[in-house]
Amino acid sequence: MVPIPKIAPGNEFGPLLIKRGERVFVLTGAGVSAESGVPTFRDAGGLWEQHRVEDVATPEGFERAPELVWRFYSERRKKAATVQPNAAHLALARLGEQIGDDLFLCTQNVDALHERAGSRGVWHMHGRLLSTRCSECSRAPFDDESAYEKAPRCDCGALLRPDVVWFGEMPYGLSRIYQALEETDLFVTVGSSGAVYPAAGFVSHLRHLGRARCIYVGLEKPENAHAFDECRLGKAGDLVPSLFELANR
Ligand code: NAD
Repeated sequence: MVPIPKIAPGNEFGPLLIKRGERVFVLTGAGVSAESGVPTFRDAGGLWEQHRVEDVATPEGFERAPELVWRFYSERRKKAATVQPNAAHLALARLGEQIGDDLFLCTQNVDALHERAGSRGVWHMHGRLLSTRCSECSRAPFDDESAYEKAPRCDCGALLRPDVVWFGEMPYGLSRIYQALEETDLFVTVGSSGAVYPAAGFVSHLRHLGRARCIYVGLEKPENAHAFDECRLGKAGDLVPSLFELANR
């Protein structure tokens, strides 16, 4: 029988105990950065800063109008410098300090708020806003905070593009992610609507493996709620700081 998830306000649950040697996988989505003032897709009704996602976050959109796409990401780069990590980012950085390599922190976000809160080794499965790569050649992606008015070009002559994973593209490092999932004892998703795959499918994969506790933390029930053991409803900044308790460490 498939268990029914407990879905309730976050303050109705106790902390999640992490025993010595247990592996924790935390997947964050746009909701973890919402309280820092970075808008989620959902808040904007499917629009991203007033643009249609198909225009600014797909390879086809970039092919059609590279300047529009670069102006969009350049604006986001400028805004990124003005926002600060919130209590949820800080709490996850603290957890990393406490349990070290037993934490795998994977984010769908392209912002750098986990790093700015002090997290190390963050897995950016959808790339990074402050990185640029060539759309054609194999030159390594490079750190880049520049805002561009015109679409810049690589030394090879092709267009440079933001080093982010657009809709229809393959996320970065999926084999490393699935390896980490295989070893996971506690899986926690924070602030992700459960609508963007493959990330939304990680929890079902774990359900199939049958070894991890799976917990959701976020404002509302996600679309993949059925696969979690618990959905703890509330703001990430309110719930994440008291979410974990270390036992026997
Ligand atoms: P989403 O916008 O689809 O969903 C955000 C989720 O966060 C919603 O379920 C919402 O209920 C929840 N939420 C909103 N405020 C919250 C809060 N204060 N605390 C906890 N939860 C809150 O985002 P998604 O599921 O991450 O998927 C969208 C895609 O958009 C991702 O691939 C991501 O790369 C991209 N994106 C990234 C950023 C960013 O880098 N910060 C921002 C917007 C979108």
